[in-house]
Amino acid sequence: MSSATPVTEAVVFRWHRAEIVALAPVTPHVTSVRLRCPLAESYRAGQHVDVRLTAEDGYQAQRSYSIASAPDGSGTLELMIEALPDGEVSGWFTGVAEVGDRVELRGPIGGSFSWDGPDGGPLLLGGGGSGVVPLLAMLRRRAQGWREIPAALVYSVRTRAEAIALPELERLAAEDASFSLHLATTRDPSGKRIDAGLVAEALRRTGPPGKVFLCGSNRFVAAASDLIVAEGVAPGVIRTERFGA
Ligand SMILES: Cc1cc2nc3c(=O)[nH]c(=O)nc-3n(C[C@H](O)[C@H](O)[C@H](O)COP(=O)(O)OP(=O)(O)OC[C@H]3O[C@@H](n4cnc5c(N)ncnc54)[C@H](O)[C@@H]3O)c2cc1C
Repeated sequence: MSSATPVTEAVVFRWHRAEIVALAPVTPHVTSVRLRCPLAESYRAGQHVDVRLTAEDGYQAQRSYSIASAPDGSGTLELMIEALPDGEVSGWFTGVAEVGDRVELRGPIGGSFSWDGPDGGPLLLGGGGSGVVPLLAMLRRRAQGWREIPAALVYSVRTRAEAIALPELERLAAEDASFSLHLATTRDPSGKRIDAGLVAEALRRTGPPGKVFLCGSNRFVAAASDLIVAEGVAPGVIRTERFGA
């Protein structure tokens, strides 16, 4: 297992060549993209990278993607990319890209939205849609040696079928008494949004959180943040990341 190495600005702002080594569907709309890249040796769970695509005519497009994997010494990292209607970059990754294709990455970015075991907990994580990706990385990191740190994930997603890594999360919740999963499916027949009851139940499982990480749309992050503060959690322990929209 590799531990995160210090990140200097020179590393952060340089573009690195990366090769796609595996592509796999995660949900009907989300694709796992595993890339071999030097950056894989120097990130913390929760951070993101900028990805740059260059067309044959020189046209370039650049977007940010959270890293889904935890550092594991494999020389690779995993992104999970949701296909958006008419999405320029997400459409390429989810419909056109092939193993062996090359892109460029720079980063890792987002030092304050990151977690490693020695940072401690308890951990309260809240994800909306693909906003769960950096939180999955944190849970994967925790599973590498810090399972004694209580953790709960409140996850809002349209349907169970669209929930990213649901089998992995449910397996973790079943075998790890210190981790609980609180799923809110907004568009299933019995669906609901995250509410005070769900947040209170997550907090009952973790105890007062030392770290709170929230990621998703602006709307999700604002709603989750309000609910958590209303339960008495100090705003100062909350870190947020917004994917936009
Ligand atoms: C820090 C950070 C981390 C991110 N991590 C991830 C990740 O792990 N997985 C992931 O799938 N995405 C992630 N995103 C979003 C990603 O950067 C792109 O915005 C997204 O893939 C759309 O790019 P595109 O080129 O496909 O779409 P575009 O061609 O730019 O836009 C296509 C259409 O989608 C709409 N749109 C653009 N962005 C969003 C959005 N975020 N949500 C809803 N609608 C949108 C546009 O308004 C437009 O109608 C992250 C964003 C940030 C800022």
